[in-house]
Amino acid sequence: MEGLTKCQICPHNCKVDRLNGQIGRCKCNDKVKIALASVHQYEEPCISGENGSGTVFFSNCNLNCIYCQNYEISQLGKGKEISINELADIFLKQQSKKVNNINLVTPTMYVYHIIEAIKIAKRKRT
Ligand code: SF4
Repeated sequence: MEGLTKCQICPHNCKVDRLNGQIGRCKCNDKVKIALASVHQYEEPCISGENGSGTVFFSNCNLNCIYCQNYEISQLGKGKEISINELADIFLKQQSKKVNNINLVTPTMYVYHIIEAIKIAKRKRT
């Protein structure tokens, strides 16, 4: 998480201190924020397969695509802040639904949080 003190996660290289209240181009702070966790069926059949894809839609975005179909989530930041522990529980809940994969929708800005959440989820499983 210390990489957030001078954030260079993506090529924007904002170098802002997200752990101390600064925000960069993506508008993310030090918390994880998500808009939705759901099972996507049918869309992109080669990915969603028979049981669906376990999507987690992250709020905000480091891209600013002008035709984004998730504008309210990606650009207006709709969603709620959750803890890393809660994110781990969401991953495990998706897995319990026997989805074909965990589908992280625009996760780049939260990569450190996600790594920690996966570690927690792995510990909780064993
Ligand atoms: S993740 Fe956000 S704050 Fe970090 S470099 Fe990219 S746009 Fe800037």
